[in-house]
Amino acid sequence: MAAYEYETHDYDVVVVGAGGAGLRATLGMAEQGLRTACVTKVFPTRSHTVAAQGGIAASLSNMGPDHWQWHMYDTVKGSDWLGDTDAMEYLAREAPKAVYELEHYGVPFSRTEEGKIYQRPFGGHTTEFGEGPPVQRTCAAADRTGHAILHTLYGQSLKNNAEFYIEYFAIDLLMEDGVCKGVLCWKLDDGTFHVFNAKMVVLATGGYGRAYFSATSAHTCTGDGGGMVARAGLPLQDMEFVQFHPTGIYGSGCLITEGARGEGGYLTNSEGERFMERYAPTYKDLAPRDYVSRSMTMEIREGRGVGSEGDHIHLNLSHLPAEALAERLPGISESAKIFAGVDVTKEPIPVLPTVHYNMGGIPTNYWGEVLNPTEGDSNAVVPGLMAVGEAGCASVHGANRLGSNSLIDLVVFGRAAAIRAGKVVDPETAVPTAPKDQIEKAFDRFDGIRNADGGTPTAELRLEMQKTMQRDAAVFRTAKTMAEGVEAMTAIAGKMDDIKVTDRSLVWNSDLMESLELTNLMPNALATIVGAEARKESRGAHAHEDFSTRDDENWRVHTIARVDGNKVDLSHRPVVVDPLSTEEQGGISLQRIAPKARTF
Ligand SMILES: Cc1cc2nc3c(=O)[nH]c(=O)nc-3n(C[C@H](O)[C@H](O)[C@H](O)COP(=O)(O)OP(=O)(O)OC[C@H]3O[C@@H](n4cnc5c(N)ncnc54)[C@H](O)[C@@H]3O)c2cc1C
Repeated sequence: MAAYEYETHDYDVVVVGAGGAGLRATLGMAEQGLRTACVTKVFPTRSHTVAAQGGIAASLSNMGPDHWQWHMYDTVKGSDWLGDTDAMEYLAREAPKAVYELEHYGVPFSRTEEGKIYQRPFGGHTTEFGEGPPVQRTCAAADRTGHAILHTLYGQSLKNNAEFYIEYFAIDLLMEDGVCKGVLCWKLDDGTFHVFNAKMVVLATGGYGRAYFSATSAHTCTGDGGGMVARAGLPLQDMEFVQFHPTGIYGSGCLITEGARGEGGYLTNSEGERFMERYAPTYKDLAPRDYVSRSMTMEIREGRGVGSEGDHIHLNLSHLPAEALAERLPGISESAKIFAGVDVTKEPIPVLPTVHYNMGGIPTNYWGEVLNPTEGDSNAVVPGLMAVGEAGCASVHGANRLGSNSLIDLVVFGRAAAIRAGKVVDPETAVPTAPKDQIEKAFDRFDGIRNADGGTPTAELRLEMQKTMQRDAAVFRTAKTMAEGVEAMTAIAGKMDDIKVTDRSLVWNSDLMESLELTNLMPNALATIVGAEARKESRGAHAHEDFSTRDDENWRVHTIARVDGNKVDLSHRPVVVDPLSTEEQGGISLQRIAPKARTF
């Protein structure tokens, strides 16, 4: 047994993660007087939420008629009928309240002439149940909405006496008889260890975009919550659904807005051909995101990619007048210079369909309580454990997320988790003690990685995983590529026993931290490729070339993946089809949301 000393802390609630979801949960818990700790591996305002620009969806009707039922309908359709209907109703109904709360907490939203919250149009948001014109539903604080929300929520959490443990890395959950009793953490700047005993642990650790070679997400998005859950013997849900944006800068993955193509930019392959004309003769480069991403991937797979490895595509803007670029696209011109060394007035930008969002995650109900489906009960709750934000899967995004529906998911479900904790966590009872044997087990795993002395450096294995996922769990999938991907990823995950960590110290050891993160990325990646290979249909972001249509009869089910080492056991959980309220109670009619073809 590895001998490590540790300090113990007792709380009603411990939230792991200080992005939009973690902070909204922390604030809500603290407001109710629950003793709340928020543990985060980066400073709260550096969480990935800070990078969100576009905005947050809510049917405020500030810029024209809107209704929560229209928002719900768009979300159901956007999810390609894989979302849980109760959760989608809750999201759309509660969204306006959650946004007004943010306003009152102090988020500096942009304003209309009359002083109302400004809203802009976003893809897939419509009126009249998809039959009316587009709606302006996305509330924005200029192009810094995530930044504004994150800073406001951090300030409010401090005001309500939430206690922050900053640059603490959560290693593993501490479970006993199926109940979560705490979490073991490593303090990165002094190498000490901390056991947090709690009545409720909330995972708000964000997505796992970094399982791929090219992602718009921060380097910290390593799916740590999913990794911890998998090691605790709990499942992940719908991991095969990964959203790609067509134009991330090759290498860095930094986003280049769709506006670049809106202003007249176009994509070319290694033959200099404007290939989108072949795939989408009418809309060309302005076809929908998933369509463009798939076409680009086809070009690369067929050997017409650009660059020495033929693994990306060019986005051309240099034919546009320099003044137009400076006036309309100054931000992306700067990003292209910094991240690709390209002067957009002279050269094309190297781009690649880039992982942008994980629809799948830790399964929860619409209160944020983690589910562990059993044969008799597909909605069985894990006591003491919640998950919110991109780490969780409520599931409101189903097979495909609408733009601006993530920020609203963070605050609605962060808030819902706090409301629920107010009911199930009793501040008067004693805090449970995390079991010693579980603490020892977590230390043993930590020690094994710290002293890992195999033949494969962490960075090398991580790159192998990222390239494999980029190639085989791509935008566009075939039975053959996914079968190859499963084989390759099984072998790569098997090599975790052979990693090499060079730095054995405990203070600011980024080699060790990245190795722990790799142990988390790996189960997320494996569940993604195995789930994708098994799903014999096309739905939302899962575009299967050999099964090109949606199959509701056999596949309108959630994939449940249990990962153990390099093995994944798959089962299914039924989609929740009933909304929370009936038509008589003012809810949406079942007929409205019955599955139909998803056309635009
Ligand atoms: C570039 C970009 C632009 C986007 N724009 C929009 C937009 O305009 N609108 C929209 O709706 N969505 C947008 N999205 C999506 C949305 O921003 C994210 O889905 C969302 O911010 C995720 O928030 P989160 O709170 O779940 O996690 P994050 O913000 O990623 O935070 C995760 C937190 O968990 C902590 N953590 C993780 N692991 C550990 C560990 N082991 N120990 C301790 N702490 C840990 C981190 O320190 C961090 O505080 C965008 C995404 C990107 C990448």
